[in-house]
Amino acid sequence: MRENVTKQEYDLTTDAPFLQAELMDVMRLFGADAPKAEHTFAADGDRFLNTVRIGGKEYTFCERQPYEGEIEFKRYARRFAKLALYEALKAETGRSMPWGALTGIRPTKLAYAEEEAGRDFEPLFEKFGVSKGNIRLVRAVLDAQKGIYSREAGMADLYIGIPFCPSKCNYCSFITADIKRTGQYLDGYLDALEKEIAACKGLYRTLRSVYIGGGTPLVLPSEALRRVLNAAAPFAAECAEYTVEAGRPDVFTDEKLQMLKEYGVTRICVNPQTFSDATLERIGRNHTSADIYRAFEMAKKYGFDVNCDLIAGLTGETAEEFKESVDKAAALSPENITVHTLCLKKGARLKEEESYLCVADISEMIAYSREKLHAAGYVPYYMYRQKYMAGNCENTGWTKPGKACIYNVDVMEEISDNIACGANAVGKKIFPAEGRIERIGAPKDIPTYIQKISSIIESKKLFLSEK
Ligand code: SF4
Repeated sequence: MRENVTKQEYDLTTDAPFLQAELMDVMRLFGADAPKAEHTFAADGDRFLNTVRIGGKEYTFCERQPYEGEIEFKRYARRFAKLALYEALKAETGRSMPWGALTGIRPTKLAYAEEEAGRDFEPLFEKFGVSKGNIRLVRAVLDAQKGIYSREAGMADLYIGIPFCPSKCNYCSFITADIKRTGQYLDGYLDALEKEIAACKGLYRTLRSVYIGGGTPLVLPSEALRRVLNAAAPFAAECAEYTVEAGRPDVFTDEKLQMLKEYGVTRICVNPQTFSDATLERIGRNHTSADIYRAFEMAKKYGFDVNCDLIAGLTGETAEEFKESVDKAAALSPENITVHTLCLKKGARLKEEESYLCVADISEMIAYSREKLHAAGYVPYYMYRQKYMAGNCENTGWTKPGKACIYNVDVMEEISDNIACGANAVGKKIFPAEGRIERIGAPKDIPTYIQKISSIIESKKLFLSEK
């Protein structure tokens, strides 16, 4: 099946506007196959009644669920409405989804919520139509997070964003740009970034990790990279995990890796995405698979833990090519392998070009990665989903035992404050006792970030000090 991932309109009406967004998420799961649907909702005491009309057929679903207060009422109303529409669309189209009627990006959070309420999460996931394989995946992630997952208040991680890259990949929606075009802002960006990072010192109780992400941090000239590492050094000294998303293999040099080592970096990302030279060229990455091997060898020479990113569903790639990439990544035996499913958002060149994505083989690709990585001794330790994801699949981080990345667990499970510095960085403050999360964003565009740095810092200090 080919799925238009660029423009998608769904013909859905509901008499309950507060359910509209969730119902649309369910329509989106069915993509081009989603027929016109009409939904009505009624509640009577603890009875939730959803009716879905598609064509000449009417599907009625009644659930009994006691609740307390409006928040809980709306939570159950959304849950049952999604389930009703999903069941109706499934009956109508004959298609089921790997995550059933679950549309949220963090299935593990729902699983944790069930477990914390004293219930096994599996019956709820089964009710939502989640596949057995995905239930096993969530269970394995929860197991792998034991010893890392904690809802203690006052924990934080530091993120530093470097929005510069050697070229722009065609599927990328991040604000990053080719450094040849934006290099003129680099000095100003670093001046602002240094101030922002310094202002965050001490605005947390326990720092769990430091993560310098991108973009492609290693595309920075050596002295610029040193400035970022100097700014992060007082934070890195407080925690055991320090990651640099070094990034694309074409920017690795001995000088820069040596510098990372001197500053105490423990983990770096070598991101091949694919080992196919033809695909690498097609997606606009200016490197070859030979560069990947070279970068990997360099990383290991300096003793870093390594994460390798792969993407299932890259333009024109067959399942066989993807499987070969999984085999090659596993053969390199990095500590972590992250398997992403292609997700095209606004801003990706591929999306603007109205490209079509072949999703027929995505499930096969993901199934293979699970089988292969399990057999190679990896366990899944975090996972999340995104809207517009090919084949309604997920992204999964795999780890060798004892090598799970704390930063990824903290961010994906939203259990720790994220002190995010840089253009387009989104910080989070977690209030575990209230189950509340607050966010703070920075301007996307680099010149605006530089210009507004004083007010960004003031807002950030207030935000992080909030009790
Ligand atoms: S995918 Fe990564 S390397 Fe490519 S442009 Fe986006 S941030 Fe840069």
